[in-house]
Amino acid sequence: MNALIIVDLQNDFLPGGALAVSHGDEVIPVANNLQRRFNLLLATQDWHPPNHGSFATNHPGKRPGDRIMLDGIEQILWPVHCVQNTRGADFAPSFDTSRIAHVFHKGIDPLIDSYSTFFDNAHRRRTGLGEYLKERSINDIYLLGLALDYCVKYSVLDARHLGFNTHIILDGCRGIGLDSGDLDRAIDEMKRAGAILLQSHDLSLSGKNG
Ligand SMILES: [Zn+2]
Repeated sequence: MNALIIVDLQNDFLPGGALAVSHGDEVIPVANNLQRRFNLLLATQDWHPPNHGSFATNHPGKRPGDRIMLDGIEQILWPVHCVQNTRGADFAPSFDTSRIAHVFHKGIDPLIDSYSTFFDNAHRRRTGLGEYLKERSINDIYLLGLALDYCVKYSVLDARHLGFNTHIILDGCRGIGLDSGDLDRAIDEMKRAGAILLQSHDLSLSGKNG
């Protein structure tokens, strides 16, 4: 059994959104076209309350990109994005969600951010995704989405930590690249953790995997 985990294809991460990832919209057709190759489709949403501690506006005098200590751990500050039940948090209209079995939300606790789709940034709380996969005996997971150097990377590192055979569909990801070299470093880190990097056409050739 395998699963495709589609990370944060939300309006705020797409061109024109509050925290736009450059060319982020280009991954939507990749996500749509690959769906029939998988047994199980899951998606995640960044899902913040308005008072979330990752928003620069919630810290007087601070700006997006500044780093602060938030409840004991370092936090990069971002523009207000993906506020629960707003258009910015909605899935992109062109993203086909009709076959998504379950959506996992992250970043709900105002005191801690959650880049990973498995745990918050201090590993204090689970999203439930790891248990969901294990209950269904799914060992092989494939990830794509936004952004490569944050939510995809930290999800991949946690997935490896939890023992999943973890694949990243690289042409289905785009990154933020806050600092130059961030994307290459993210790819290196995921490789060193034992993740397998591939392109969507590697999957299209081989029929239903797993
Ligand atoms: Zn966020």
